[in-house]
Amino acid sequence: MNEILKDIEAHIKRIENDSKKSSIGTIISVADGVARVSGLREAMYNEMIAFEGGVYGIALNLGEDEVSCVLMGDVSHIKEGQTAQTTGKLLSVPVGMGLLGRVVDVLGNPLDGKGAIESVATYPVEKIAPGILPRKSVDQPLQTGILAVDSMIPIGRGQRELIIGDRGTGKTSVAIDTIINQARLNEEGKNKPDFRPVYSIYVAIGQKNSKIARTIQLLEEKNALKYTIVVAASAAENASSLYIAPYAGCAMGEWFMENGMDALIVYDDLSKHAAAYRQISLILKRPSGREAYPGDVFYLHSRLLERAARLNKENGGGSLTALPIIETQAGDISAYIPTNVISITDGQIFLETDLFNQGVRPAIAVGVSVSRVGSAAQLKALKQVSSTLKGEYSQYKELAAFAQFGSDLDARTKEIIGRGDRLVELLKQNNNSPLSLGMEIAILYAYQNNFLDDIPVKKIMEAVQSFKNYFEARFAGLLEDVVANKMLSDELKSKLGGACAEWRKSFN
Ligand code: ATP
Ligand code: MG
Repeated sequence: MNEILKDIEAHIKRIENDSKKSSIGTIISVADGVARVSGLREAMYNEMIAFEGGVYGIALNLGEDEVSCVLMGDVSHIKEGQTAQTTGKLLSVPVGMGLLGRVVDVLGNPLDGKGAIESVATYPVEKIAPGILPRKSVDQPLQTGILAVDSMIPIGRGQRELIIGDRGTGKTSVAIDTIINQARLNEEGKNKPDFRPVYSIYVAIGQKNSKIARTIQLLEEKNALKYTIVVAASAAENASSLYIAPYAGCAMGEWFMENGMDALIVYDDLSKHAAAYRQISLILKRPSGREAYPGDVFYLHSRLLERAARLNKENGGGSLTALPIIETQAGDISAYIPTNVISITDGQIFLETDLFNQGVRPAIAVGVSVSRVGSAAQLKALKQVSSTLKGEYSQYKELAAFAQFGSDLDARTKEIIGRGDRLVELLKQNNNSPLSLGMEIAILYAYQNNFLDDIPVKKIMEAVQSFKNYFEARFAGLLEDVVANKMLSDELKSKLGGACAEWRKSFN
């Protein structure tokens, strides 16, 4: 790690020295946000090139006689014949605590009118991911506050979990709820010793400005913005900004990780990122491959997602958890970009339009959603009440599909279907309403111990609401004990059982 950093530093020094003889070139042509410049002999790959009027470009194609730069920001005044100059700097962004609570563009410039950004350093947006040695496997949970996720698709700090689904299936909501839950936990844990806060970075790529504004407003309302950095590259911006955005956000997240802290980054979404890269590549006349994407689009995403990691103690023990989002067309997860990103991540949360329209929200297709590493980090107590859920759910789905054709079912089948119907209801959860870990355990305990079996399916959601109110009012201490004890001892089980029975009497 340090060696890599040293290498990079040395590299930058060398370039800085070289750039004293910084070269000045002339624009040969500008089209589609790409400037071809002659005379930039010293330019290096990914270097920032300064154009007139404070516009920057990135050198992407280095030819013998000319350099092609993709331009960022407002480029309407950039014309043929103007000069361009090498800066000797790799494209880099400001990093540090001062970015929390801020909305910035892909270069880290403020977009929120709250004044200058206080940064402690700048980090290059492209960096080599930590190798195998400084890493450690995930062993700390990242609580999303979403019952279905935390119980059946648990995520660990340092993991990469893909959120995938068609348009409007609640992808952004799952990610934003996770950010909101981190903020809630940060507030709660503020004064506790050994508490490790999670800072979030939300990278909006190619979304409408109105949508981004709504997300920011929501984060603010939920008191989560102060723990979050928003990097915005809206649909109105040119392809190069969209292309840089995730790397810029990643660099900001890496700073937390490298300084021993935990961070969470959301890339919303990488489909639009891939499309922006395809556009750039076509303009740069690079050959295109499958679905017209350039051949290195896989590498583009893998080198980004590999930068999420959990570092070992010797390297500070920090982590960066990544939640990339991919939009599918008609649920097709076998298209090029979806398969790529599925293969790069440690699992996926698959959201389905049908479920969403049936009112099953979050619309998680449990059968095809997995987390390959997170269960190692799941709290024992939660595992005790949820380890059989996924199996029960799939068994129920199979039988339910079968049962719609026949009328006389045996008692066992009826029982499984009855419990499955209740489980589906139980897992319905509005967005922006994360559950505490203790509450998640208690609800699942009640389900597993048959306290909900005699409640009509239609009334389950109401029952869960009543359960939450009841437990919050009377058993908050017990829920805290359960979490503090990390596992359900016989004593805690019997206390929980007693509490559930008491609640059950109150609800009818
Ligand atoms: P897009 O493809 O447009 O980015 P998306 O997949 O990110 O959409 P969201 O924007 O998160 O989806 O959600 C779509 C709509 O569904 C929003 O109006 C949101 O409020 C609503 N929604 C999302 N999750 C839930 C939920 N759990 N309960 C109720 N409504 C929800
Ligand atoms: Mg969205």
